[in-house]
Amino acid sequence: MLNGEVGEHEKRVIRKQVDRILRDLGNPEPPLRLTDVRALLHLDLQYYSSSNPALVKELTHRFRLLARKSIPDLGKRLLSALTKSKLCAFWVPESSRILLDTEVPKPKHRWIEAHEITHSVTPWHRHFLLGDNHHTLDPACHAILEAEANYGAGRLLFLQDRFVEEARDVPLSFASIKTLAKRYENSIVSTFWRFVEDRASELPAFGIISIHPHHPDVGHHDGPHPWRYYIRSSAFRTRYHTVSPDDLYQAIAQYASHRKTGPVFSATHVLRNAVGDAFEFQVESFSTKHDLLTFGVQTAPFAESIAVPR
Ligand SMILES: [Zn+2]
Repeated sequence: MLNGEVGEHEKRVIRKQVDRILRDLGNPEPPLRLTDVRALLHLDLQYYSSSNPALVKELTHRFRLLARKSIPDLGKRLLSALTKSKLCAFWVPESSRILLDTEVPKPKHRWIEAHEITHSVTPWHRHFLLGDNHHTLDPACHAILEAEANYGAGRLLFLQDRFVEEARDVPLSFASIKTLAKRYENSIVSTFWRFVEDRASELPAFGIISIHPHHPDVGHHDGPHPWRYYIRSSAFRTRYHTVSPDDLYQAIAQYASHRKTGPVFSATHVLRNAVGDAFEFQVESFSTKHDLLTFGVQTAPFAESIAVPR
């Protein structure tokens, strides 16, 4: 996964936009209804099928009508957006429209929709996306815009700090993650992500989303590694930057039981931090059938046995 960093200034601007949306909706209780957000922003949602080339032609025609002005190479750009860059959704500023690929599995729609909504309210995105600007072609710049849209999606779907405040009151467990995913109507994966990263940033915690070592169809993905996402609380990021996701996946492979769904293992694992001190982590792994989710939280200093010379 390309990991663009979101700058502090950009975060503030995006949070302000999300604040405005939530305020205009009367600070709703979870779950946030995206139909309300789209209605507020006058955004239209439409589905397309990337496996149906006739649709691209049809879409090009409709965009031209909606935009009421000429957009050079619109057909070409739409086609390349749909095929080459393997987009699963995009936002078309010219027609205030979000397009979502019907091939994308349903549980991912909500996140993608919120991501596209963020593009639409982030002032500088309008100039870059599907525009003539050559920046669109720069992958580093694209990664930053994508990271910004994902940041905004998280802020929106988890109602700014509301989720973290609620997550603090419940134990770090898969049962809590499932309960909160249901309450906010967000996917298990996105809830897991927020839970590990933000629940207690001062406590070293990591999360790994990976394939199941004994059932490679669980968590199967296109990436080069068995793990797909590596999530860290800020304390883990600073104190354990010497720990790699490959090390952690090796530990997962070592502990994993053959259970295909539900709890896969629970173990105490020792990790050494950047200055060489050893700490125990409580590590738990859970399979959703689609992904293997593993988290670890630092619990206690590890009492190392001292070799006494005879
Ligand atoms: Zn995007």
